[in-house]
Order: sequence, then C-alpha cells, then structure tokens
Amino acid sequence: MLGVLFVAAMTAVSAQPGKKVFISVDMEGISGIAGDDQLSAAGAEYNRSRRLMADDANAAIRGARAGGATEIVVNDSHGSMRNLRLEDLEPGATLISHSFKRHGMMEGLDETFDAVIFIGYHAKAGTPSGLFAHTGSGVVADVRVNGRSVGEGGLNTLMAHWYGVPVVLVTGDDVAVAQVAEGTPGMRTVVTKRAINQRAAALRPLDVTRAEIEAAAREAVARAARGTPSRTAPYRVEVQLRSSLIPEVAEILPGMQRPAADTIAFSADTMPQAYALVRFLYRYVNPD
Ligand SMILES: [Zn+2]
Repeated sequence: MLGVLFVAAMTAVSAQPGKKVFISVDMEGISGIAGDDQLSAAGAEYNRSRRLMADDANAAIRGARAGGATEIVVNDSHGSMRNLRLEDLEPGATLISHSFKRHGMMEGLDETFDAVIFIGYHAKAGTPSGLFAHTGSGVVADVRVNGRSVGEGGLNTLMAHWYGVPVVLVTGDDVAVAQVAEGTPGMRTVVTKRAINQRAAALRPLDVTRAEIEAAAREAVARAARGTPSRTAPYRVEVQLRSSLIPEVAEILPGMQRPAADTIAFSADTMPQAYALVRFLYRYVNPD
C-alpha cells in the first residue's frame, strides 16, 4: 500500500499539467557556439548559430512540456533579441522577440509563472575562465545588488524571485552554470561546453547536450512549485563601469550617486525598477 501510494505520488509529480514556464534564451552558452562571428547578424556563422540556439531552446520546450507545462513563453535574450525565428521553435510556444524591452532578458515574466529556465547563459564580467564572460555589455565591470556581485544570471534570478517564481534550470559553459546556480538550491545545471578560457571551449556533442537539457527540463518543471515572492527592498544597486565617462553622464539623472569615479549607485523600491535602471545605465547612457 505504501508502495502504491509512493508510486502514485511520483506519478503526480511528473505529470501535473497546467504549468506555465518562462524560458530566457541567451546565445553565448548555447551548445556548439564558441566564436564571436556566431553572435551577431554581421557574423559569417550567425545563421548557423541561431539554428543551434533554437535547437537548445526546443530541447527545453519539449522537456518542460513533458514535465507538465501547457503554456510556454520563450524570451529571446541576446543582443538584438531577434535571433530566434518562430518557425524554428517547437509549435505552441510564444516567442517574445526584438527590443526595446524594459526588462530585457526577463521581459514577459510575472507572478503567474511556475518556473523559469535559463538557456545558453554565460559567466559574469571579470570571470577569467568563463567563455564570453560579461555582464550586459562590454562596458560593465561589475553589478552589485545589496552588496552582492551578480552577473546576468544572478540579476535575472533576483527578478524571478521577486515574482515568487523559481529558476529551475540553467544551461551554459561549466563556469557559467556553476556561477549562476551558486546560492540557489534546487537549480539544475546542464553543461553545454567546458570553458578553456574566455575564447576557447571544448564543445560537448550536440545530441548529448540536447538530451540532457530535455531530461533536466522535464524533471525540473515536474517538481517546480511557485513560491512566495522574495522582496528585500530597498534594492541598493551599484553599477561599476570600465570607463568613468558613463558615470560622469549618468550622475546627472536624479537619484543617482557616484561612490567612485567608475561607479553609479542608486536605490530602488522594486526589483523590476532596479533591473530596468541597470539596463538603462549600461545600454542607453552614451557619453559620445
Ligand atoms: Zn548574449
């Protein structure tokens, strides 16, 4: 009887339908990608890599569905944010494409979702061994929220937790996934490649990484449970830049402080507000 109950409980965990899953897809950590010319539309290998990006996203979509997702929103989270082609995606997923997006890599997320998945992520700025390591863009040296250094994965996790939605899976190079999952118990990881340094990687076989992504997404979504929102306002944010010119310009805005020549700091009442401002500072403040 106990055995029967146990089996019934396990079945319920793996087949509970009706879940809503948000998948944020970056490009640097996608299976098979290791070169700059794969990352933007001007690059010779770009069309090849956007297909690779869709294939990793599709593995996550199939896995999420098998884990009980009935509604899946995919947010194109890289560069121009129009890398993924809808026709390359598994049918039935909604694609958030192009920018301007106030909430960038997390655009479209709200408290109605049950799980978040990060696909193709990379290490934060300043990580010596992470492939394509950066935060937001090349102008950022570091981002700190309430004193803690975060990369894109860390910042996006704070956004998910603001809405009470768990981040259940991250994929990318070995350095990136360890960094993003650190401090978030229960976040699964799939290593798509081993970072040799910021430019070279040992690419794992595509069939292997896709199978692992699909299996991990299935298990993670099956077990995902929406939590209570984690809101530790005010959020004190410091954005340290590689040049002091951006802080020189940004300091003009009300509410901005400049604790160091290369750093802009501010406080925000909500994480979405903090997120939008970080994005604004590195992307839309141009001293030229
Ligand atoms: Zn990217």
